[in-house]
Amino acid sequence: MWLLYLAIFGTGAIWCQVNAAEKQADYSGYTLYRFKVDTTSNSMEKLESYDMELDTTTQTARLLIDIWAEPSKQNPYADVLVAPEFLTKFRSLLTSAEISTLKVLEGDIQSQINAERRAMIHNAIRRRKRALKTWSDFDANVYHSYEEMTEFMRLLSEQKPDMVEMIKVATSSEGRSIYGVKIHPPGPSTPEKPSIIVDAGVHAREWIAPAVALFMIKKIVHEYGINPQVTANLQKFDWYIMPQVNPDGYEYSRTNDRLWRKTRSKNVTVNRWCVGADANRNWGYRWGEAGANRTPCSNIYMGSHPYSEPEIRGLKEYFTWQITNPMVYISLHSYGQLLLSPWGYTNERTENYQDQQNAAKEAAQAIKNTTGVSYSYGTISEMMYPASGTSIDFMQHRGVPYIYGVELRPTDNPNSFAFNLPPMFIKATGDEMMAALNAIGTHAVKMKRL
Ligand SMILES: [Zn+2]
Repeated sequence: MWLLYLAIFGTGAIWCQVNAAEKQADYSGYTLYRFKVDTTSNSMEKLESYDMELDTTTQTARLLIDIWAEPSKQNPYADVLVAPEFLTKFRSLLTSAEISTLKVLEGDIQSQINAERRAMIHNAIRRRKRALKTWSDFDANVYHSYEEMTEFMRLLSEQKPDMVEMIKVATSSEGRSIYGVKIHPPGPSTPEKPSIIVDAGVHAREWIAPAVALFMIKKIVHEYGINPQVTANLQKFDWYIMPQVNPDGYEYSRTNDRLWRKTRSKNVTVNRWCVGADANRNWGYRWGEAGANRTPCSNIYMGSHPYSEPEIRGLKEYFTWQITNPMVYISLHSYGQLLLSPWGYTNERTENYQDQQNAAKEAAQAIKNTTGVSYSYGTISEMMYPASGTSIDFMQHRGVPYIYGVELRPTDNPNSFAFNLPPMFIKATGDEMMAALNAIGTHAVKMKRL
């Protein structure tokens, strides 16, 4: 076990050293703005079309403008990061869109990134002093590396074999295994039992998402037999939770570029300089339709073909062949406090639109009762903008009854932490998401009489 300890936490030490020496993306002078948008206009698409500039001399793509939070009908404010050299152009684009009120949320995003980094190094050193001997020692209230997440799931499946099975879902472009856990009540799992599926980490920089997924794994196993709601939902459903489905992107966001969003696939026949695709635009159902982006450098690039990303190909295969009776599917993202249901590719409503909205309403109420925080809900296309090639459209097409892409915290806050949400918020965000899933599960039981 001591050797194991060295193996796990040794990685943390190497990580610190590597990062001190490695060249990292620098966002000095980048400003995060918030402004009100007419959601019926195309001003966000217009802004997004400028997102990356390719410098063929240095062979790098530089971020000019980056939409961090899309406006929705309930909350028509956009959060947008702007490079210093793009500021004049940005202001003229806003003027032509008749947007005049602009609020600075963060004057220098790099200082926020630096502060987060210092806290992480401090935490990594602190954790090295304590061995992870049992799954219950796992500190769910910090942001972990991919190796630490994997080690937690491995320990959990070894120490709770009657309840937890570690599953391998896919292999990433850089060769990392994408793992998850299947959780069921003690004893053999029942075939054809309905299931709740949760994935997280699709977008690399949205760190709160995998942290919340890990928090929920620990909470379900820990509170089974103690917490009546957790117990009831595990008796009704098997839970499949995949906390980190884009490990290459995630590790890159930890070590090289905090704002990395995409996968890390390299496709030199398409583009020599730009890496990765948006993993939530790469699903095959209605791939490349409304809202699709065909520019490989873009942060929302749909990929060279459907399922070009091995992570998404693996998830599709797993969801199709290994999960027999999916009842609820949740994909965790950040940020904006939203529960987004299908469709993404069209404004048309799904057949079970009303039932999905009813469940979302109950979930939002459960969140409110738990932490007092407000989440809005609606379909992707009606609340914000069309998006094609998403996992939630795939799952709707597959016939899963309850599907939500969740934008976690934060939203409005005097200190807008955006993607750099401090780890002290993991517990509250995890508790409220657990309450939301319990509410959706309870609704499913009520409606389907499971
Ligand atoms: Zn996302």
